[in-house]
Amino acid sequence: MLDADFFRRWMTATAASVEREAERLTALDSPIGDADHGSNLQRGFRAVRDALDKEPPATPGAVLTQAGRLLISTVGGASGPLYGTLLRRTGKALGDAAEVDERQLAEALRAGTDAVMQLGGAAPGDKTMIDALVPAVDALGGSFAAARDAAEAGAVATTPLRARKGRASYLGERSIGHQDPGATSSALLIAALSDAAAG
Ligand code: ADP
Ligand code: MG
Ligand code: MG
Repeated sequence: MLDADFFRRWMTATAASVEREAERLTALDSPIGDADHGSNLQRGFRAVRDALDKEPPATPGAVLTQAGRLLISTVGGASGPLYGTLLRRTGKALGDAAEVDERQLAEALRAGTDAVMQLGGAAPGDKTMIDALVPAVDALGGSFAAARDAAEAGAVATTPLRARKGRASYLGERSIGHQDPGATSSALLIAALSDAAAG
């Protein structure tokens, strides 16, 4: 079973990974965006980490809804509301249980991903974070490691795509040949989940 401490570890591992990879995320956002994706997420996940350091919420659902709220209030870019919605909706789907199992987490993350698609209007293949999240959720029924690999493969597979949503879509054909920054950070989020599961 996965308790509040597991979810705290997931969020702090994501925050650490965003710190390590911020420059790469911003570099990916340079040719097809406005070169701020790393700093956007850094600001958001620092707020998440600091809140968890002070007083971690008592349930898995509350850890994620707090993180989602903080991302929405601290990240200016498109990714703030989108990641915020992902975590808030996932947390809401977990309810107020003290522990959840892997299947419940997979279902909740599916609900969160659906909410992101509804908010942003992106479908798989539009070269967004959805291209990492959907394969990850599909693979989560298997194992955390399978979800991590699926998310990473999904992020890499955005390179030949033409962007249909977000800033990169303004470039049309010229968005082809670059890996999507948001899909890349979503792969980091799922890799951190796998790290949290490994202990
Ligand atoms: P901004 O574009 O406002 O500067 P960021 O650079 O932080 O925001 O985030 C850009 C990422 O957000 C993109 O790489 C993409 O993955 C994701 N994104 C943008 N618009 C959408 C959308 N409508 N649906 C899903 N993801 C999106
Ligand atoms: Mg940007
Ligand atoms: Mg921006």
